[in-house]
Amino acid sequence: MIAANNPNRTSWIEVQKGSDFPIQNIPFGSASVSDKPIFCVSRIGDTVINLEAMEELGYFSEIELPANTFSHDTLNVFLSLNKVIWRAVRDRIAELFDSSNETLQANEAHKGQILLSIEDVSMEMPVQVGDYTDFYSSRQHAHNVGCMFRDPNNALLPNWLHIPVGYHGRASSIILSGQDIHRPKGQRKAKDETIPSFGPSQRMDFELEMAFITGQGKPMGDSISVAEATDYIFGMSVFNDWSARDIQAWEYVPLGPFLGKNFASSMSPWIVTLDALEPFRCPGETQDPKVLPYLEYTGDKNIDIKLEVQIETDTMPAHTISRSNYKYMYWNMEQQLAHHTVNGCNINAGDMMASGTISGNDESAYGSMLELSWAGSKPVPMADGSERKFLNDGDTVIMKAHCSNDQYHIGFGEVRSKLLPAK
Ligand code: CA
Repeated sequence: MIAANNPNRTSWIEVQKGSDFPIQNIPFGSASVSDKPIFCVSRIGDTVINLEAMEELGYFSEIELPANTFSHDTLNVFLSLNKVIWRAVRDRIAELFDSSNETLQANEAHKGQILLSIEDVSMEMPVQVGDYTDFYSSRQHAHNVGCMFRDPNNALLPNWLHIPVGYHGRASSIILSGQDIHRPKGQRKAKDETIPSFGPSQRMDFELEMAFITGQGKPMGDSISVAEATDYIFGMSVFNDWSARDIQAWEYVPLGPFLGKNFASSMSPWIVTLDALEPFRCPGETQDPKVLPYLEYTGDKNIDIKLEVQIETDTMPAHTISRSNYKYMYWNMEQQLAHHTVNGCNINAGDMMASGTISGNDESAYGSMLELSWAGSKPVPMADGSERKFLNDGDTVIMKAHCSNDQYHIGFGEVRSKLLPAK
């Protein structure tokens, strides 16, 4: 067992019951305090742990870290190391914050330098994303979109069951939870129109996704196998891949998503490590037809991550519109990464790869307004008596994710962003 995952461990830091951040989580992120430089952090309960200070005070001296690994705006230097070091750092944090360990617990001066309240910090982008890839790996989502955009009798295109379909997205517009976005403008052409028009998107949507962040890959020309993939995946965040459906539907043939997608994608600030998620691995759907050998895998590669989407307005408290689960993915992360690199494409530390919209089998588990309202034909009721076909200006979209078993609960926090009117 990974030492930091010990379910019996308790911390000398107070953790409220039901917290997303027990000592078994130990996520990574970046934070700032007033106008000082940004530094790398972890978290237990509502206490933020300054990793830069821990490193400077020698708490990681037994681990082969390059100097000042955590004195950066992002985790990219840490991500460029390897799984052995990632695990050693997380295990060391678990050890030092264990109830039975006095080393830091009894050092008031060091605690003053290392510990902060979540209330006193601003979370920052945890990673500088070099490249962003978006997959399309939930079968139910692909089926639903195929039904609406094409033909219900041939909803899945012929390649879908053989390839983890994906496209290269845009990294520059990946933003942190809490940053609001403006409704995008663009070209769209409704079915009953003969020529396109220009204006604010009339079909603004979210996509409920999980994203994984990679470490440094192999040299260009080499491939990462399914079996090796776990070693190159650092962790995961909750991800809202905003989508303008009217712009998307008009532009996507023949080269795929472009301006309907690249105006914004929002991520949650904490990266939960793949190590922390290992206890929640579960089997995936049987892949039939059989996949090509380079995509074959053994063991449980899906993860049981419970997902929830809420809409909140200035006058309506958060109202849940969908509950889904990452375990519904047809293609798993390891297959996605193996496929991504099978042609020799290289990946870098800090690349981000999103799952694609995650939809379950019934409509309470659909991961987009497009599906929940079935392209606007079935308005979705809200708690305040209003309805939504797509998103309204002033809607805040909140996505949450957590894992739980008999022993503990591990959460991702949330990604939250408000849709403002078009500029
Ligand atoms: Ca997407």
